[in-house]
Amino acid sequence: MHNSMFNFRTKMALAKISLYFSVLALSIAMCGGAPAQEKLHFVIDPGHGGKDPGCQQNKLDEKDLTLDLSKRIQKILTGRGYSVTLTRDDDTFIGLEERAKVANRIPGSVLVSIHFNSHHLRSVTGIETFYWPGSERSQKLASYIQGELGRRIVTRNRGFKPQELKVLGATKGSAALVECGFISNQWEAQRCGSAWFRQVLAEEISQGLMRFSGQDPDAEESSSSASSAATTKP
Ligand SMILES: [Zn+2]
Repeated sequence: MHNSMFNFRTKMALAKISLYFSVLALSIAMCGGAPAQEKLHFVIDPGHGGKDPGCQQNKLDEKDLTLDLSKRIQKILTGRGYSVTLTRDDDTFIGLEERAKVANRIPGSVLVSIHFNSHHLRSVTGIETFYWPGSERSQKLASYIQGELGRRIVTRNRGFKPQELKVLGATKGSAALVECGFISNQWEAQRCGSAWFRQVLAEEISQGLMRFSGQDPDAEESSSSASSAATTKP
């Protein structure tokens, strides 16, 4: 009696353990499988680099700020399960077409080029995002990025605008270029030169990219239609 009761309890315990592991295996399979396929591959492009410092204002080099901010975006997005490729991860020079090629080699990828701005009028401030004229999906991408930045960051919201920028035109898929602030303005330079502010920028840009990704489950199809739209441009 005692013995058979022991056996019964042992069998029940083993059954429970076995059930537990089945459920665990199933949930791991579910977490690891389905959502990963839907997530976009982002190509983050730190503007300038190497012999090309970009804007140099208020003791800041644009190329250093873009690299630091891009790495912060990469960290946030990879932490959320996205694939991220940087066009450069150190202080090297890369041509604009080569940057686009990095994205073009990854089908369905989305390129975001990171820049800081400069103006001869030192009072000029603000954040703006550009997309290639006529590319609907890139316009949507730019609007999502600018939407997040404009919502939380206190500076002039310069909006999202079409502009024929070479890196955008050469990218076959969706692409946007963010100008994250004017380092020619002393107040904005002070913020852009601070790690905490670049972290805020990184979080807002990443948020925009995740929203863009989540609200468009037909990412790859739309991307190829956007690419044909982009390639029909001069
Ligand atoms: Zn630049």
